[in-house]
Amino acid sequence: MAAKVDLKTSIDWKEAKAFLKGLSDKQREEHYFCLDFISLKKIPTWEDAGAKGAPGKAVKSQHKADRVLNEKISLFRGDITKLQVDAIVNAANSSLMGGGGVDGCIHRAAGHLLKEECRTLRRCETGKAEITGGYRLPAKSVIHTVGPMVQGDPSPSQVQELRNCYLNSLQLVLDNGIRSVAFPCISTGVFGYPSEAAAEVVLGVLRGWLEEHADKVDRLVICVFLEKDEKIYRKLLPYFFPVA
Ligand code: ADP
Repeated sequence: MAAKVDLKTSIDWKEAKAFLKGLSDKQREEHYFCLDFISLKKIPTWEDAGAKGAPGKAVKSQHKADRVLNEKISLFRGDITKLQVDAIVNAANSSLMGGGGVDGCIHRAAGHLLKEECRTLRRCETGKAEITGGYRLPAKSVIHTVGPMVQGDPSPSQVQELRNCYLNSLQLVLDNGIRSVAFPCISTGVFGYPSEAAAEVVLGVLRGWLEEHADKVDRLVICVFLEKDEKIYRKLLPYFFPVA
């Protein structure tokens, strides 16, 4: 087994990554930045949450109620850095060197080694995605994607860029055998994409992707931070993932 690495003081991200890879899930917990992490089994699926009181049954949806898909999706409100999932997605900027909002939170929680690894990736274009280790995060990996910057109504190409953020992140999920992933509301903060329009794009992408790849993942978590985003998703989810 590799020699023990202190993630707070190490300056070698490759060594730290190899060390973490050799640990069991339980052993990794010792290296988390927080004690109050949230395991996947504590996050209810939409099948469970949607069936409990949401207006899931009342709406007329163009989609069929599909229990298998509803068990693969969750809506969670809180801090994405606390989630113990295989990967969390970062709404990064193209430098990949950290910034404000969720990006800043993820970099602070993961620790300085995340920046060291990101430095080796250089730039990431809008709509593209890159994967790194999670270091001191409860999540094993971070998928960094760059959303479009929008003023006013999104143009058709900005809609496509937002779709690409999710689709390219999901491609990395498949390529890396990731079974659980949490997404923040990409572009809807400082980047200015209107929240409800973004949620419609996101839910359309996730529904379509799950219809093809549901067996490849255990859970896709939509991680909202603001009450207004939680309300938007609670309203829209029954249209995209009706519960029977
Ligand atoms: P962007 O630059 O892509 O707009 P922001 O970080 O400004 O990214 O905002 C994206 C979303 O992330 C917003 O909905 C914001 O409320 C949310 N957010 C901010 N901090 C966190 C966090 N710790 N966990 C989850 N979501 C967060």
